[in-house]
Amino acid sequence: MGMRIKQLPPAVANQIAAGEVIERPASVVKELLENALDAGASQIHIEVGHGGLNLIRISDNGSGILAEDLPLAVAAHATSKISQLDDLYALNSMGFRGEALASIASVSKLSIISKTAIEDHATHLEVLGSELKLGPSARNIGTTIDVVDLFFNAPVRKQFLKTEKQEFLAIESVVKRFALSANHIAIQLKHNGRLILSLAEAKSEQSKIQRVAKIFGQAFIKESCYFEVEHGAMRLSGWVSGNGCQRSQNDRQWVYINQRMVKDKLLFHAIKQAYEGILHPGRFPACLLYFHLNTQEVDVNVHPTKHEVRFQQPRIVHDFFMTHISQALKPAVKELAPTIVPAKPVEEPLSYHLNESRPIFHTDASWLVLNNHYGIIFKANTPYLVDMKGLYQEGLRSYLLQQSLPLVSRPLLIPLRYPIPDGREACIPKIQKMLQDWGICLNIDRDFFKVATIPIAVPQLDIPALLEAVYRDELADQRMLEYLTTHQFFDARQLTVDEKNELYITLENIGAETSSFCKELTLDDCRKWLKSFV
Ligand code: ADP
Ligand code: MG
Repeated sequence: MGMRIKQLPPAVANQIAAGEVIERPASVVKELLENALDAGASQIHIEVGHGGLNLIRISDNGSGILAEDLPLAVAAHATSKISQLDDLYALNSMGFRGEALASIASVSKLSIISKTAIEDHATHLEVLGSELKLGPSARNIGTTIDVVDLFFNAPVRKQFLKTEKQEFLAIESVVKRFALSANHIAIQLKHNGRLILSLAEAKSEQSKIQRVAKIFGQAFIKESCYFEVEHGAMRLSGWVSGNGCQRSQNDRQWVYINQRMVKDKLLFHAIKQAYEGILHPGRFPACLLYFHLNTQEVDVNVHPTKHEVRFQQPRIVHDFFMTHISQALKPAVKELAPTIVPAKPVEEPLSYHLNESRPIFHTDASWLVLNNHYGIIFKANTPYLVDMKGLYQEGLRSYLLQQSLPLVSRPLLIPLRYPIPDGREACIPKIQKMLQDWGICLNIDRDFFKVATIPIAVPQLDIPALLEAVYRDELADQRMLEYLTTHQFFDARQLTVDEKNELYITLENIGAETSSFCKELTLDDCRKWLKSFV
């Protein structure tokens, strides 16, 4: 049996992200599934009637709720999962707000039948407005919750609901997302009496893969790579699709943090960067990622629905995601995407300079960014199509040319590890020496390189690609400048205002009219393009 339910003291209750969590039938299902998981259930049955508006019934074989505690279960700010402020920073359960059952009870006809291991019989609790009715009942250990006539007393909320079919699809999606976070639980989902989803418990590797295949499709398993990495207390594993999968929506980027399904912007951004140059602009990959870290490192008490989180060290988490996903993607990518700029031979030092004292008066509003690579800028009312990535690399190249070696470096918070290619051990000292000059400190850890620093001037450096190039080209020292400038995780859409201003200055310095990164957009061009669409 779990812990007893207690009313949270106001000091704790006030610290909990407030707000409505029950927006639609699917939100009820999410909350009830999380409760069953927290209760240690290994089987969950879900029955839905008419998109969840008539009935949502969820029964589990978890710990159950003591008869005495049943009234507290539906009281606001009452929970068995936390009791003091500190618990909020080290959560091991899905729930902690003690609000879900109370909110559901306020907008439906709610009843609970539950039995714990230490009781002789089950107890039935019926909530009728503010009145509670308790009585004996029958069932095995576990809990059944019936939510009938959802929003019967909230006609305005009801108006915002979609069709019965759409509401059921939202429920199905919640159940599927939950299913991939709790492989050890057998799950059945029925709609209007019809069995829609039946998942056996998945404990072996093989049965876990089968569950993923059932939910993401067999094609996803075939087309994607599985990977697992660990660094200190952080662990990331999962499947990432290659460039054979290009979705028009981001509905298949499922990320779990410590088993909790999240929709976190920082992590989506890291995934997007990892896929830079692999997918066509505006396309999304499919991935299923499990991330584990110390509970103290992540705050889930940010939003009432707990979809958003806050990391103690967002930069570390972002880099960890980006580098390991892009590394995992290497074997999955069949051919390089066309957006990669061909390497140019290094020329004589260029004759223009970044002029630091120049006042910056252009704002980023003058850029119209088209995709990760190209943008449009107006100069004296004339539009120019600009290869922003090429221009950025050009600016960086000219900046690096003015720097004396060794380049100033910054340490990576997490050193990155890469396997040393076979048979090339002999040249390691030479590589180390050469990279040292360019601000990259390379240590050796048995069969691995450990990259400990990168040059400050090249924050977006794609280290694995750089190392590959260094090896491929037989350590051509004189090409280091070119490697540093071309191997970048560049995304024009992610540039800051300052970076865009700097890009503008680079363009000015090169001279827009003569630059190969820039082309005036004529009326004729536009006509031609429009024609090519029809
Ligand atoms: P929270 O999950 O945030 O604690 P809820 O309102 O969802 O708040 O649930 C209140 C309490 O009721 C829980 O803390 C738990 O003790 C109990 N409870 C709810 N659902 C179940 C269940 N299916 N099995 C066992 N206990 C449950
Ligand atoms: Mg809960």
